[in-house]
Amino acid sequence: MRPITKLTSSLLALALFAGPAAAVEESRVPGGVALIDLGEAAQRPEATFRDRPVWVRRNGDGWQAVVGIPLGAEPGRHELSVAGAEDRDFEVADKEYPVQRLTFDDDEQVNPNAEQLKRIRRDHREIKGAYRHFSEDSPVPTFQPPVAGPRSSSFGLKRILNGQPRSPHSGMDIAASTGTPVSAPAAGEVIETGDYYFNGRTVFVDHGQGVVTLYCHLDSIAVEPGDRVATGDRLGTVGETGRVTGAHLHWSVSLNDARVDPALFLADEAEQASAGN
Ligand SMILES: [Zn+2]
Repeated sequence: MRPITKLTSSLLALALFAGPAAAVEESRVPGGVALIDLGEAAQRPEATFRDRPVWVRRNGDGWQAVVGIPLGAEPGRHELSVAGAEDRDFEVADKEYPVQRLTFDDDEQVNPNAEQLKRIRRDHREIKGAYRHFSEDSPVPTFQPPVAGPRSSSFGLKRILNGQPRSPHSGMDIAASTGTPVSAPAAGEVIETGDYYFNGRTVFVDHGQGVVTLYCHLDSIAVEPGDRVATGDRLGTVGETGRVTGAHLHWSVSLNDARVDPALFLADEAEQASAGN
């Protein structure tokens, strides 16, 4: 292979810098992503949505906010606040997610006892803290699937567990057997690991700008908080810890503390979508 000269690589860097921002499929629905152009500015503008800092990235000569829309967002007009500039309005369309009914033999998986509820509240505080991480790193616009395997379109499903309505499904389930390696879909920093009542063994990775991914129900964890990971580095292995009906990876992608459909970040899924399949 021809070695890349210093000149070529700096031209390449320039081309990447000045080009239009790639990938991240836009979908202005609850659980989707809105791409909002913020115009030209010398410094990266600071934008917030529902009081959470938002990922702002280069787009050509200007800047663009990549806004995560929570699953619970109402359809209609929403406002992105931009420091020192006009708010930007954008419209969120309705999306009807299908209902999924699941049965757990152990009813404490659906109706935890007082002791378990105490643990769940503790888990929740730690999980919330991880989701609210915001660092200045710039995330990459596309992810590699963390596990090779059939990806279900399970994001957003309204859940009825043992006949009772529960929170919607906030991630993508990927079927794989226990022990299958789980790898980082993009570079980042491990910010938290834990063993939670519902999520089981879990790893959180911060990719920068409020983009946080998590990996649940792991059999084993191969990283520690503070570890830097590159794309493809092992985070752990698939398992069935926590509340599961079988071994799989539950993968969530969070932007500005809003869980969004991970499929919007997978290059091949975006291609499939644009090919009309
Ligand atoms: Zn799941």
